[in-house]
Amino acid sequence: MLDSIKSLARQYAGDIINTRRHLHAHPELSFLEHNTARYVADQLKAIGITPQEGVANTGLVALIEGTKSGSNTGSRVVGLRADMDALPILEANDVPYKSTVDGVMHACGHDVHTASLLGVARILHVLRDQFDGTVKLVFQPGEEKAPGGASLMIKEGVLENPAPVSMIGQHVAPNVPVGKIGFREGMYMASTDELYLTVRGKGGHAAMPDNLVDPVLIASHIIVALQQVISRNRPPASPSVLSFGRFIADGVTNVIPNEVTIQGTFRCMNEEWRAEGKRRMVKLAEGIAEAMGGSCEFTIMDGYPFLKNHPELTRRVRAQATEYMGPENIVDLDLWMAGEDFAFYSQVVDSCFYRLGTRNEARGIVSGVHTPTFDVDESALEIGAGLMSWLAVQELSV
Ligand SMILES: [Zn+2]
Ligand SMILES: [Zn+2]
Repeated sequence: MLDSIKSLARQYAGDIINTRRHLHAHPELSFLEHNTARYVADQLKAIGITPQEGVANTGLVALIEGTKSGSNTGSRVVGLRADMDALPILEANDVPYKSTVDGVMHACGHDVHTASLLGVARILHVLRDQFDGTVKLVFQPGEEKAPGGASLMIKEGVLENPAPVSMIGQHVAPNVPVGKIGFREGMYMASTDELYLTVRGKGGHAAMPDNLVDPVLIASHIIVALQQVISRNRPPASPSVLSFGRFIADGVTNVIPNEVTIQGTFRCMNEEWRAEGKRRMVKLAEGIAEAMGGSCEFTIMDGYPFLKNHPELTRRVRAQATEYMGPENIVDLDLWMAGEDFAFYSQVVDSCFYRLGTRNEARGIVSGVHTPTFDVDESALEIGAGLMSWLAVQELSV
């Protein structure tokens, strides 16, 4: 099986790269992936697979049923996920497949994920008489934008009928050399909650603060105090980040404003602490404002949960990847405080999210995701399709 998959991946590599280039040249923003969805549907139909379209509007789900022993009822189901959306970034690369849409760019490699999963579809469709069980292909919209396409796909039943025993996802990694695959068990990526505070006081002449309620000073106390929630209340084993990138006090040298607006992000890797931390922050900020004679309106936009890689599944997948890639090509990943909506699957079903190396220093392919010069070494696509096919088939036979 390993040899068959490798040889098909090699055989289809050129087509998979062309698919990626087509997607790269025609990026669409989150939840607006209409042409991408149509393209994916057409590609699947050309392979001989009829997808369910319009899941969470622009998402698709397709099943490949193994026929090795004739009957497929009651057998295992494994889910494979690709995201399809691009980012509001103007591409700065001078490449033949450069984005044709001004200000929209596949700068997070979701074109690679989608093209790879289409490659998986082709490979496993050809090999379907050699395995039992069902591979569920999930092409989802809107990874980059709240509330996350994954959460909507789950609401629309992507984890039911048939229910996958596990979900596997891959993501390009510009910090991992092409040809290598990265894994991490357990906590991997952070929850992401957005914090919006409006601190209100009573503005006026800066020479007469005794007649005012200074929201700038209140807001400053709040910023300092909130960091103490992280340093004093955080469970020591739960990585957490609290950052404020916006603090607007729109007065001048001699005018204290009426209000100050603050925006920040709270990230962690523990759902109980996530809820508790937010409760404490709101209470502390409101209490400080009130004690100082003002008020604080604290609004939180809940983002993605934290992403946990199921330890046993991840060990299993890593062992299979080692067999496919060779032990020298498997690397350990660090914790990463960025968010990823694959986390929604990981909160519901055993999941494994691994990294596909796409870096090539010799060719200058080193830019980070979400930058205008992001690109990948396209030899990653053959690996992306082949490895994922192999992992799915192995996971079906557990
Ligand atoms: Zn991204
Ligand atoms: Zn991404």
